[in-house]
Amino acid sequence: MSQKHVLLSWRFPTPGPEMVAAEHEVAIWEGDQPMSRQEFLHRISNVDAVFVSNATEVLDREAIDAAPHLRCISNFGVGYDNVDVPYATSRGILVCNTPGVLTETTADHAFALLLAAARRLMEGQAYIRQDRWRGWTPTLLVGQEVNGARLGIIGLGNIGTAVARRAKGFNMITSYWSRSPKPHLEIELNITYETLDELLGHADFICITVALTPETRGLISDRAFSLMKPEAILINVARGPIVDRHALQRALEYGRIFAAALDVTDPEPLRGDDPLLQFSNLLILPHVGSATQRTRSRMSELAARNLLAALAGERPPHLVNPEALRR
Ligand code: NAP
Repeated sequence: MSQKHVLLSWRFPTPGPEMVAAEHEVAIWEGDQPMSRQEFLHRISNVDAVFVSNATEVLDREAIDAAPHLRCISNFGVGYDNVDVPYATSRGILVCNTPGVLTETTADHAFALLLAAARRLMEGQAYIRQDRWRGWTPTLLVGQEVNGARLGIIGLGNIGTAVARRAKGFNMITSYWSRSPKPHLEIELNITYETLDELLGHADFICITVALTPETRGLISDRAFSLMKPEAILINVARGPIVDRHALQRALEYGRIFAAALDVTDPEPLRGDDPLLQFSNLLILPHVGSATQRTRSRMSELAARNLLAALAGERPPHLVNPEALRR
């Protein structure tokens, strides 16, 4: 098989880069910041495949047009909202992702955010570091109870299901809203389906694990916040734009919810002077839901396997757009 040209947009964790380099001509962006759009458009002009992060590289129509030889977009991550999939498909470009290997790690992270926001862990940490701790008081940093609380999961895919499994251990009463109801999981996990409005009105904790699509962009709007309980805590580990950031700001400003905890923001990165950062009951992390050594290594291996299969003319293990194979 002849060697192909592959661009890696980062020095991804081992073993993916080594697996690809063993078979193909590889160029790696070695920067500690994402490459500029101009640099990216220039570098993809002669490649057959790209191994990219779904958090940093956008493969829209312009980028795809800039890469006339492109046959595969291999995403390091499960979300593929960074790719214009219909256009890639129309060009016969295979789009791949890394589902499954990051499910449990991201669900752990959602639960870490849930517990931290409920029990105000970050506020407690800041309180001590700012030297404000003068002694115990009965009302100091009183939070919300997790045990037995109602959890509403928006998007019962792999990660949403793994969050529901964790909730059982905390005796939570779990409901979900998803594009398609999942009767078999309702029985297995003792969870119930609700309409989105019902879920928003009942839940003490609302956990977003839905994909970002045109239908889910801005799903959590002013109206959605107005349906939530004042004690509600919103957790988002999916994608920032699912929550309307201005609506979130208003909800926090007017005390419409108790707290929010976000792993993902709109935009990313969020700048240090962003108005959202004024709220002490908003916990924000820099999109690190899958960031453990083992998971990142598994993602790297799967992204490489996808890419190598595509370049060998085989069906990749995780192909987002099988229709592209027929083109
Ligand atoms: P998944 O198993 O594919 O689940 C996707 C969920 O989104 C499903 O519930 C699906 O609904 C729903 N969905 C897809 N398109 C929709 C639409 N048009 N309208 C309404 N719902 C729609 O994916 P996953 O592995 O659980 O990951 C979920 C998301 O989490 C990813 O898309 C990604 O953006 C995000 N994520 C973030 C991190 C992080 O670092 N924070 C890490 C991994 C993933 P159905 O159940 O009806 O199919």
